[in-house]
Amino acid sequence: MSTEKTIPATLIPGDGIGPEIVQSVTEILDAVGAPFKWEKALGGVAALDATGSPLPKETIESIRRTGLALKGPLTTPVGGGFKSINVTLRQEFGLFANVRPTKTIVPGGRFENINLVIFRENLEGYYAAMENYIPYGDDPHAIATSAGYTTRKECNRIVRYAFEYAVKNNRKRVTLVHKANILKLLTGLFLEEGRKVAKEYEGRVEVNERIVDACAMQLVTDPWQYDCIVTTNLFGDILSDLTAGLVGGLGLAPGANIGEKAAVFEAVHGSAPDIAGQNKANPTSLLLAANMMLAHVGRQDLATRIDKAIEKVITSGAVRTGDLGGKASTTDLTAALKQALV
Ligand code: NAD
Repeated sequence: MSTEKTIPATLIPGDGIGPEIVQSVTEILDAVGAPFKWEKALGGVAALDATGSPLPKETIESIRRTGLALKGPLTTPVGGGFKSINVTLRQEFGLFANVRPTKTIVPGGRFENINLVIFRENLEGYYAAMENYIPYGDDPHAIATSAGYTTRKECNRIVRYAFEYAVKNNRKRVTLVHKANILKLLTGLFLEEGRKVAKEYEGRVEVNERIVDACAMQLVTDPWQYDCIVTTNLFGDILSDLTAGLVGGLGLAPGANIGEKAAVFEAVHGSAPDIAGQNKANPTSLLLAANMMLAHVGRQDLATRIDKAIEKVITSGAVRTGDLGGKASTTDLTAALKQALV
């Protein structure tokens, strides 16, 4: 490959199973001659241990330089501890759109032919995490409060992104998912902007609306009615784990965080501490995220080659990791995927 065609990109191995799946994915990317020239950077607990900061300034500077990152999962302490680095990265780089496609790969599952995309607003809602305790009596933590917010600007931007995606990718319908019957302002504003944007696409893309709880039920009873779903931050987070479950679980669920000046690609799943360091993790989610990254830089040709290898290996059933009911290791699956590349 000639050097002038390389594309600088930041590579964050991350925590838990992160380094194992990042190793697998970069091997497969190398095998197809992907154009990325990696700048390795630290994030999460790995960074905290090495540098004293969970998000070192070198990592931020690298992403600012490259505008492109592939990221392993990062551990976030539950309850106290440092703020989620994922959330910090989204805010630092204005990564307003979280795109999470769900497609059936494993045949014979409970749900065949699933092919939908969730667009999750990535900067606002309850992820603003403006939380406080209010003391009562002797208990300083007697009451906990959390305030979310949505802005007209971001609601408009995420819905518009979903409609534009639908037009470009020949998708038929966008569903606005909300809870405006209860959170009348917080998600009412989202619905109001959503309807406004939808009008501009009349005749090109259908629109409908669902309350989030009904949507969750329908995603389990009749997921095929959905094509593109656009929703607020927390609902999108929860629904996209649900849709991952429809097609075989978190081992097959990629995500992209898109902003004006940077894009960060990752698996939907976390650092899976229960299987970290055991060569058991399924690297496919991160590999599918790398495919989204290839498409983002105009190399759909390479993404298609990798997609075909994934389909071939997983459909044959001979080499599957534990999450898909198999016994293969991460390295077994990596070798099989490399061999299946044409
Ligand atoms: P998790 O997604 O890490 O794990 C949930 C379950 O799915 C576990 O049983 C795990 O073994 C399994 N699993 C996940 N990915 C897998 C894979 N690739 N192959 C096989 N099995 C897999 O969720 P969690 O345990 O709730 O979170 C662990 C940590 O990850 C937390 O600190 C959380 O904050 C963080 N997290 C990070 C991200 C991110 O970096 N984008 C996303 C979600 C959670």
